[in-house]
Amino acid sequence: MSDLEITLVPMLSDNYSYILHCKQSGVVALVDCPDADAMIQTLETMNLTPSLLLNTHHHFDHVGGNEDLKKHWPTLEIVGYGPDSERIPAITRRVQEGDRVCVGQHEAEVIFTPGHTRGHIAYYFAKAGALFCGDTLFFGGCGRFFEGTPAEMHASLQKLAALPDATRVYCGHEYTASNLRFARHIEPNNPSIEQTYAEVLSLREQQRPTIPSTVGKEKQVNPFLRTQELEVIKMVSLERAVQPHDPIEILGALREMKNQF
Ligand SMILES: [Zn+2]
Repeated sequence: MSDLEITLVPMLSDNYSYILHCKQSGVVALVDCPDADAMIQTLETMNLTPSLLLNTHHHFDHVGGNEDLKKHWPTLEIVGYGPDSERIPAITRRVQEGDRVCVGQHEAEVIFTPGHTRGHIAYYFAKAGALFCGDTLFFGGCGRFFEGTPAEMHASLQKLAALPDATRVYCGHEYTASNLRFARHIEPNNPSIEQTYAEVLSLREQQRPTIPSTVGKEKQVNPFLRTQELEVIKMVSLERAVQPHDPIEILGALREMKNQF
């Protein structure tokens, strides 16, 4: 079993920040934080001091707390994508694809996942079986293509889908119910989507997070990872003029359909 304790911290209206605590070494890392005060309060209650902050991308609802967290803990290491460092406030450590970041005994691999932004990265902890993927892959969906093409997002999603099925997926937002409503529209006959949607609605009624998902689950329910499925291709071709054998075109069309859903 993994001894990397992961705590979800809801932020703003639907963001998630994460606290990672390596129980063996006592080292604590955070993943993305828009609200420093809320995070400081949570960490003080838990009696934890963070050494690292791992940023996935430059959007304010992910890095908004950087400056104040750094002021509160001056030795805090702030990790972000090197080529995007001018947009990551108070960054101290620039990383890119394939780099390793240690949280005590746990090593994360940096995976470059452009599409939502041109400098988006994810952090994969192989030993703990956990992925922190910001706004690239959501439970049942994916991020908007603000600074990237369907081809870039497709390549990014495929990298994440190639991780082991049991990998827990910790994303940046609670968008699951809305994502699965769209997934049902795309694949009305997929029983995995139907069952997962019912579970998600029940969790949300109790105001509980739906996170984490797993890579295996995403491959069953997330239309953006299912661009080769006949049902998905049929539904997209019905609503959009696409080349049915081009998964990148299908992905682009799916994203536009979701934007208008
Ligand atoms: Zn974002």
